[in-house]
Amino acid sequence: MATDRDYYEVLGVPRGASPDDIKKAYRELVKKYHPDLHKDDPQAAKNMADVNEAYDTLSDPVKRQQYDAYGKAGPSGFPGGGQGWAPQGGGSGETFGGFDIGDLFGSFMGGFGRQQATTEVPRGRDINVSVTLTLAEAIFGVKKEIKVRRLDVCPTCHGSGAAPGTSSRVCPTCNGTGEVRQVQDTIFGRVVTSGVCPTCRGEGHVIDSPCSTCKGSGVVRMDKTIEVTIPAGVDTGMKVRIAGQGDAGKHGGQPGDLYLFVTVERDSRFERQGSSLYHTVRISPVQAVLGTTVAVPLVEGGTETVTIPAGSQHGTELRIRGKGAQSVGERRRGDYIVRIEIVVPKTLTAEQRRLYRQLADTEK
Ligand SMILES: [Zn+2]
Ligand SMILES: [Zn+2]
Repeated sequence: MATDRDYYEVLGVPRGASPDDIKKAYRELVKKYHPDLHKDDPQAAKNMADVNEAYDTLSDPVKRQQYDAYGKAGPSGFPGGGQGWAPQGGGSGETFGGFDIGDLFGSFMGGFGRQQATTEVPRGRDINVSVTLTLAEAIFGVKKEIKVRRLDVCPTCHGSGAAPGTSSRVCPTCNGTGEVRQVQDTIFGRVVTSGVCPTCRGEGHVIDSPCSTCKGSGVVRMDKTIEVTIPAGVDTGMKVRIAGQGDAGKHGGQPGDLYLFVTVERDSRFERQGSSLYHTVRISPVQAVLGTTVAVPLVEGGTETVTIPAGSQHGTELRIRGKGAQSVGERRRGDYIVRIEIVVPKTLTAEQRRLYRQLADTEK
């Protein structure tokens, strides 16, 4: 699923791009590969997935720095150039090329002989899901049921991985730490590296009779429907994090998070700009001269009557306060702006032509 392409190349931005440039590029690509425009097009879906993956990393300063330093595969050589990178939560269990880089850097940064924390159980994976919202849902927020295919705690063994009636035992190779340590003398001094225990593959225990449902992993992939709350004011290109609703962690590890990538459907009646909502009303020259009232649609449903004053010019904007869109975190709604367009009739009845002629005579 993961892309082999360079994340900067995927988003079409230079390596030095600012966070704003990255966001802008992402929004453009979301519009380009929008699932509504490419139904049943696997290439567009793949492109969309690549774009989401690239944005997920490049929009997060820590992940981006890590990616800039090491790429996706992890460090290709030994340290050097990695000074700026702070491991998240030291020894968080992210394994690069067989050893735990958090612990490795911990050895450099925290001085030598630092006591190693016991290996944490790895956290479940984050999951990305696209959601499409109507304009009203995006503006007012919505509770939605989302179908997610994810790893969940195994219902048979409740996550232990051992067949019912049996239990796991502490790994004899690593005594439950999940790692085997090695001391190396390098140009940086003495470095303790820890490798993942080959017997238990880092899990710290071995299961003699694995649960038949999950084959010992403690988790099973299943389809889940979960209810999520999307806050008011979201827009295309934003992502909403639902904590703890990603893949379950194996052997009791913390679950990952669920990220909802938002796409807002176009509503031909409105144009949204930040917290303002624009709607265009077309009137005749006569209506512009004499003034008129029109009913304009509201995004929440229903209409509002607007008085267009006599003598209104083409391009005039009338403002209705508090009936526009909303931005995330703002308490009040923005304004609804009615744009006046004067449309000159191309055909006239004989009667109208006579009256316009008569009108023309008064202007001489
Ligand atoms: Zn099981
Ligand atoms: Zn072990």
